Amino acid sequence: MSENCIFCKIIAGEIPSKKVYEDDVCVAFNDISPQAPTHILVIPREHFASLDEAETKHKETLGHLLLSAAEIARQSGFAKNGYRVVINTNDDGGQTVFHLHVHLLGGRQFIFPPG
Ligand code: AMP
Ligand code: ZN
Repeated sequence: MSENCIFCKIIAGEIPSKKVYEDDVCVAFNDISPQAPTHILVIPREHFASLDEAETKHKETLGHLLLSAAEIARQSGFAKNGYRVVINTNDDGGQTVFHLHVHLLGGRQFIFPPG
C-alpha cells in the first residue's frame, strides 16, 4: 500500500467503489467518470505507479490483468462485439492516477487513433 494513493485506498476499502471482480492479484471496479457504457478499471493489488515502472517481477501480474479484463468483457457480454483496453502511461499518455491500471471500455464503437 502506498500512502495517498486513491487506488490503494479503494483496495483497502477506505474509498468506496463499485467492485465488479476481485481475486488475489487484482481488483476491478467501475470508473467514476465512465467514457463508455461500460468502463471498468482493473488494478493490481500490488502498488506500482505505471507501466514505465513495471519490472520483470511484474510479468505475471501484467498478464493476469489482461486476462482478467478479457474475462470481465466476456462476462459483461460485449466481448464478441469488441472492446478497448488502455494503459495510459505518464503525462503524455494522459495518466492521472499513478497506480497502474487497465481501462476496459465496452458497449460502443471506438475510433483509432485516440485523441
Ligand atoms: P488515468 O487517466 O489513465 O490515470 O485514469 C484514471 C481513471 O481513474 C480515470 O478514468 C478516473 O475517472 C478514474 N478514477 C479516479 N478516481 C476514481 C475513483 N475514486 N473511483 C473510480 N474511478 C476513479
Ligand atoms: Zn496504489
